[in-house]
This record gives sequence, C-alpha cells and structure tokens, in this order.
Amino acid sequence: MPAINLAIVGVGKIVRDQHLPAVAANAGYRLVAAASRHGKVDGIDNFTSIDEMLAAVPAIQAVSLCMPPQYRYEAAAKALAAGKHVFLEKPPGATLSEVEDLASMAAARGLTLFASWHSRYAPAVEAAREFLAGTRIRSMRVAWKEDVRQWHPNQEWIWRAGGLGVFDPGINALSIVTRILPRPVFATAATLEFPGNREAPIAASITLTDAQGLDLVAEFDWRQTGRQQWDIVARTDAGEMVLSEGGARLSVDGVRVHDEPEQEYPMLYRRFAELVASGRSDVDTAPLRHVADAFMLGRRTVVDDFHD
Ligand code: NAP
Repeated sequence: MPAINLAIVGVGKIVRDQHLPAVAANAGYRLVAAASRHGKVDGIDNFTSIDEMLAAVPAIQAVSLCMPPQYRYEAAAKALAAGKHVFLEKPPGATLSEVEDLASMAAARGLTLFASWHSRYAPAVEAAREFLAGTRIRSMRVAWKEDVRQWHPNQEWIWRAGGLGVFDPGINALSIVTRILPRPVFATAATLEFPGNREAPIAASITLTDAQGLDLVAEFDWRQTGRQQWDIVARTDAGEMVLSEGGARLSVDGVRVHDEPEQEYPMLYRRFAELVASGRSDVDTAPLRHVADAFMLGRRTVVDDFHD
C-alpha cells in the first residue's frame, strides 16, 4: 500500500511530543506539509493557514488537526471539502453537533473521519475491558486529578468556553470508561467548580449509572499537587480492579496483571491508516456527550480565582 501524504495543522505541544515521532516511525505516512500560525516543522513545506496549504500542495491526502477544539471544525470542514481524510485530535470538537456535521460531510464524500481518543490505546485498557466483561461490577470510581500548572502552563484556550477546562484531561478518563464498561452509561448528577475569573471548570464530579443501576462516580480536579492521579478502580465479584497511570497499568487485588510500554500515538496512526485503506470512519462521540451532559445537568459553584 503506498504511503499516505499527510499534513499536520496546529503545530504545538502535542504535535511535537507525539504526532511527529509517531508519523516519522510509520512507513505508511509521508509528512508533506504543515500549517500553523507560528509553529513550524523542519524539512517540509510550512504554511500559516490551512487554506494556503491546501491550495499549494494538492498531493495532500490526509490532514491531522491538532489545534484547540474551538478552532477545529472550520479546518476540518475545509479539509473534507478539499477531498482530504481527517484525523481529529481529542476532543473532536467544541460541540456534539459540529462533530456530527463533520461525520455527515465525510460520509457524503466517501472520506475517512477519525475522532481519535488516545487514552483508549493506553496499554492496559483492552485487558481491563476483558476483565470487566467476565464479572459483575459493584461500583466504579474514577479519579483524574492533576496539577494544571504542571500540565497546561499558560494554555489560555483551555480556560475559555469550549476549551473544556478540567474536562480536557477528564475526557480521557471518560474515553476509557466508555470503552471498558459492558453497557452504555449516563449521567444522573454533576457538580462543576468554576474559578470566578475563568469560563471553564477547574474541578468537576459526575455521577453516572447504566440500565442495571451501576454505581459510578468520576472526579476531576486540576488543583492536585504532589502525586498525580489518573486511576479507575472497580469493585467487582472477581476482586478489585485498579487501572492506573492513565490506563497504563492494571492490577487485580493488588497483583499486577498487565504492564506494557505506552504506544498510544503509534497505534492511533496505525488505526487511521487502516480506516483510510478500508474507506471507513470512526467517530465515537460518547466521551464528549458525557461532558456535554455534565454541563447540562451540573450544579455550578464559583471557587477561588485561578492565576497561572
Ligand atoms: P497547544 O500547544 O496550546 O496548541 C496547539 C497549536 O494550536 C498551537 O501551537 C497553535 O499553533 C494552534 N492554535 C492555538 N490557538 C489557536 C487558534 N486560536 N486558532 C488556530 N490555531 C490555534 O495545545 P496542545 O497541548 O498541543 O493541544 C492541542 C490539542 O491536542 C487539544 O485538543 C488537546 O486536548 C489535545 N491533546 C493535548 C495533549 C497534551 O499533552 N498537550 C495530549 C493529548 C491531546 P499556531 O499558533 O502556530 O497556530
């Protein structure tokens, strides 16, 4: 199969940390161009807008869109209109409706749209799914608690409406939960804590359940100092399952059952190439839907102002 001519849009932290190494290591891609207002990628053609890039490099077959979610729809619509396959960073957009619109556009044009959820490719996620499929879950607790100053320094967009605030990492937990549980879940209550000077929450809690009355609580907090926590704990008939370190490690009753090196972005790019080759799309909006539901149901409190 010939390599896919790929372009990257929105050259920032995640592009440098993950996309560029994953693409360079995959013979199924040839990185041919990038578009970003300030960022550049060495050794390829760089443009300051997607319009300029699409006009100048007709050989592009696919684009990865890595700018903040509030600005992704417009770029995705332009890429699809130009006949390109599209890889969306997470979250796939700022609203559910715009993502549905993109999925319809891709389907109408026979193009691939991939709403990527990198945490679903964390090493122990599939093992956790298999474990839970074989037992009864009594309760599940999700704790995604990190220090925003450490992980998102000076990222203004993340605090603006549509930037999701603490749900920017929290949606990673929801992407795992919706993958490993045997049935769909839905929120029944939520609380959202907004700093007085910000448009997005710094902490949130969602209570969810399913058709069989699952007891599930997810807590997200950006004020965590000291040990950072990205854990999912399930009490089950087969013991206590702990999926920790963002899906990297799995233990049952304290015994490590899964521990493999992290390969999230290499796997995402392999998946995207498979989707393109088979003419399919993969657009699961469940994690974004739960965030939207939390904003709809959530009781809002105002907490201390936040300054970087
Ligand atoms: P970032 O570095 O703050 O932003 C990426 C790039 O987007 C910026 O360098 C900027 O490039 C462009 N951009 C910023 N504001 C823009 C605007 N108003 N209009 C158009 N482009 C704009 O963010 P990031 O950490 O890479 O995250 C980007 C996306 O990846 C987010 O959706 C995030 O959730 C996801 N993600 C991030 C991580 C992580 O660890 N950081 C992990 C997984 C996924 P120019 O100024 O050059 O245009």
